[in-house]
Amino acid sequence: MTSDDFTDRVAIVTGAGRGLGRSYALALAQRGARVVVNDPGSSVDGGVGEEDAAGSVVAEIRAAGGEAIANRASVTDPAGVQSMVDETVDAFGRVDILINNAGILRDRSFHKVDLDDVLTVLDVHLTGSLRCTHAVWPLMREQGYGRVLFTSSQNGTYGNFGQAGYATAKAAVLGLMKVLAIEGAAKGVHTNTIVPVARSRMTEGTIIGDQADAESLPPEAVTSGVLFLVGADAPNGVILNAGGGAFSVTELPETRGVFLGRDAQPEDVRAHWDEIRAGGYVDVLENGPAQFAKFLGMARAGSPDE
Ligand code: NAD
Repeated sequence: MTSDDFTDRVAIVTGAGRGLGRSYALALAQRGARVVVNDPGSSVDGGVGEEDAAGSVVAEIRAAGGEAIANRASVTDPAGVQSMVDETVDAFGRVDILINNAGILRDRSFHKVDLDDVLTVLDVHLTGSLRCTHAVWPLMREQGYGRVLFTSSQNGTYGNFGQAGYATAKAAVLGLMKVLAIEGAAKGVHTNTIVPVARSRMTEGTIIGDQADAESLPPEAVTSGVLFLVGADAPNGVILNAGGGAFSVTELPETRGVFLGRDAQPEDVRAHWDEIRAGGYVDVLENGPAQFAKFLGMARAGSPDE
């Protein structure tokens, strides 16, 4: 089975009633996957929506000859998430793919934001992703195959005014992804992250909605990258940026570093600041222990005792 063939694969896509999630669900079903379309039909700020977003995407998939069921649980509801996974196994026998896509916005500058709004945003993007992943993880490990996808954001990796909660959640899933990529590797479970750029309800009124014309950033242009990341040939532990037909990878590099001695003072750090942060050389470190090893190596090489 190659990346573009999803025959007999079973996929859960959260927040699949519109926007990017809808596009992923349609494309997976079109390539043979049986899909659980999860969506409670929320408003953009996470309030109660009106339409049956999940049901209408399922109808679209079935009309095109595909197989899908609707699930209307919120990813913030632990019992609802567990039932979603149980219903998936009852209906389709397994779970091969989980796409954590559900998302909301409650933007406000940090000095004005209500902390409850920040926590609500964290609950959907971060805890919701954690919860759904924790529910499918044992099944994937046991069957020796799984693909988990997290959704981050350029505003999580680089920051954006008014998005303390959103950026915290979107950066936090990167740490989770790196751990699961390490832990799942031996069991055939690959975990990756998509950073999309697309026009959607969520990006209306933002720089994307304002500056891109309707055609240049469709959700469908992100979907090829997503299907690659949840396909049989998927990499592991990668952050893929995708939008408008363009693709790139984000690495989390660090500079070479400088040994200043274990008795270095704040003044020494300031005096060497340009050298410490000097660009041109970057280490792309595989994992946390690789970074510890790097520092241990520098500390030993620079030690006056050795
Ligand atoms: P969208 O608003 O069109 O879709 C989000 C979907 O998530 C909605 O259908 C909504 O009902 C659903 N949802 C909200 N709360 C939920 C919950 N508690 N449980 C289950 N579903 C829930 O937005 P989109 O642009 O398609 O965004 C999809 C994902 O991509 C989000 O995680 C978003 O943060 C991320 N993202 C999007 C962009 C972009 O350019 N559009 C950029 C970076 C990140």
